[in-house]
Amino acid sequence: MTETMSKNTDLPRHLEINPSEIEATISRLIASNTKEIESILEAVGEEPTWNNLVAPLEELDDRISKVWSPIAHLNAVASTPELRKAHDASITKLSEYSTEIGQLQPLYSAYLKISQSGAYAEFSIDQRKVIKDAIKDFELSGVALPLDQKKRFGEVSRRLSEITSLFSNNVLDATDDWVKEIADVSELEGLPDVNIAMAAEAAKSRGFDGYALTLEAPSYLGVMDHVENRSLRKEVHEAYVTRASDVGPTAGQYDNTHVIDEILSLRRELASLLGFSNYAELSIERKMARSTDEVLSFLKNLLDQSLPKAQKDLQELQDFGSKYYSLESISAWDIRFLSERLRTQKYSVSQEELRPYFPLEKVLAGMFQVAESLYGVQISSSEPLDKWHEDVRFYEVRNQGVLVAQFYLDPFSRQAKRSGAWMADCVVRREIGNFLQLPVAYLTCNFAGQVEGKPALLTHNEVVTLFHEFGHGLHHMLTSQRFASISGINGVAWDAVELPSQIMENWCWKRESMRMISGHWETGEPIPDALLDKVVLAKNFQSGLAVLRQLEFGFFDMAVHSSLGPIDIFKVIEEVRKSTALVPPPDYDRFPWAFGHVFSGGYAAGYYSYLWAEVLSADAFSAFEEVGIFDRETGNRFLTEVLAVGGSVDALEMFKAFRGREPRIDALLRHSGLK
Ligand code: ZN
Repeated sequence: MTETMSKNTDLPRHLEINPSEIEATISRLIASNTKEIESILEAVGEEPTWNNLVAPLEELDDRISKVWSPIAHLNAVASTPELRKAHDASITKLSEYSTEIGQLQPLYSAYLKISQSGAYAEFSIDQRKVIKDAIKDFELSGVALPLDQKKRFGEVSRRLSEITSLFSNNVLDATDDWVKEIADVSELEGLPDVNIAMAAEAAKSRGFDGYALTLEAPSYLGVMDHVENRSLRKEVHEAYVTRASDVGPTAGQYDNTHVIDEILSLRRELASLLGFSNYAELSIERKMARSTDEVLSFLKNLLDQSLPKAQKDLQELQDFGSKYYSLESISAWDIRFLSERLRTQKYSVSQEELRPYFPLEKVLAGMFQVAESLYGVQISSSEPLDKWHEDVRFYEVRNQGVLVAQFYLDPFSRQAKRSGAWMADCVVRREIGNFLQLPVAYLTCNFAGQVEGKPALLTHNEVVTLFHEFGHGLHHMLTSQRFASISGINGVAWDAVELPSQIMENWCWKRESMRMISGHWETGEPIPDALLDKVVLAKNFQSGLAVLRQLEFGFFDMAVHSSLGPIDIFKVIEEVRKSTALVPPPDYDRFPWAFGHVFSGGYAAGYYSYLWAEVLSADAFSAFEEVGIFDRETGNRFLTEVLAVGGSVDALEMFKAFRGREPRIDALLRHSGLK
């Protein structure tokens, strides 16, 4: 960046977004983009160059993304029926537009021509990556296919988007349909007060007295973790693991059996149209992993490494269950319950006990201090142009006094706000001649706000979540890339994108950094070492069984997406479980029927990414452990080799540039107590 560069912070006006105008605005944008693409192609003629093709197309993309990001964001955090309707209708239009552009032969030819021209050799590395990625995007959109196959590709894609959303609607409806009425609170013995209050609330909203147990995560997990009554646990467990299937209390009503068959068959067809032998190969094409074989041997190796610990974990549970609950053998509905009891007995520390030490303000100040120590950036709060809710905060990131990025933080849960925590981009960093567009991020969490005159206090789990999303935010904001398609998290392989987020979590487990981010809300005293030690000890409790569960999902996902023809997914999961399920699940267990990550989310033949990125982040953090977790030189290297490069280099090269070698699994095994 030069001194003469002009900058624009370019913040959206959220309050000016009018749901009734969204669809028309998006249609107008799409129409005008489509027209401009025609003129660009005309102007390009036989001589496509960076300036007459790539740069103006990026401009068009950015125009849409700057209008769309705040709309999508508002729909997620402050939704109304009008907004949701306009959002859903527009997203269909946008996806049709992107398929259309992706299959535009003249555009593809122009990119190919640039890549084969003499000028290409003179291009910088980032320019070449932009072109390489674009060509791959065209090819994976079916641009090179003969006309009839192109048409079929479009039909298959459209049907896939319909049927994957049918899959998730079935899961949603099956989840909502089941409710268990409880008249006597004594049946809920063991359930924490907050869950009992929730169950009473749920009963009231359904118009009956007493308590309602549902299959929504907080209710389901509350029962599995805490309820003493074993047969009640079994009943709720059965309802949960049979959702959207051919068995269980709602058998056949929202059955995903044929939906899954069709999804897999369409994906096989898509892969085969593009010349891959199965869908897993197509998925791996854009990932850091080099082949499906590499993924499988990665999973297999991790299985071998975690089995001994998992067996020990199970033995410990079994001993505990037989000693305190006279259980002869453990069933699927006992695992979480016994784990929770054993954890409390062994470590005598609960998440609630930690809250007073983590007032949000203190944690934020400490987290910004961690970022400053590592990357030399200063973060200060500021007034946003506008905010969609009074809780929203706004921050500026500076490097040696120079503004480099901004972000919104929307920390608390409320109605009409999607659950969970995530980072989304609001504005992407890019340079256009002498003009610099600064990156802006949205960080969204769902913490409890202030209650009873106390400030907002976080559990340690929530602190970890905040660090995780902040890590994604730093990846987006501390990028030094000039081109939008490889800036920040853009263009980064799916199985590597969690590296910057997961690595940040490590600073939540170390004494030095815990002193920075904790301070009792009444006394200001940092978390006592003795309490922290208990938290750290409890970190890897039952980690063997937890990894095994992730491996089960990963193996299943790879198996169903590697098949060459129709398969019986029940047989597949049974086969996988022979090596991953130490406690055999009941016959009626239909977990895959509700496995949204791979059947309706973006994780098809990609579920392994969670574990894969954990290897990267653990190994990267071990570089800090070797020299000190606040080592400025290592921090700077992570900034320049990982955070700043965005998608401009391949993920493996990026990792090697930071670590000086290929990733190794040892740090993950050590960090998660498997070795
Ligand atoms: Zn993440």
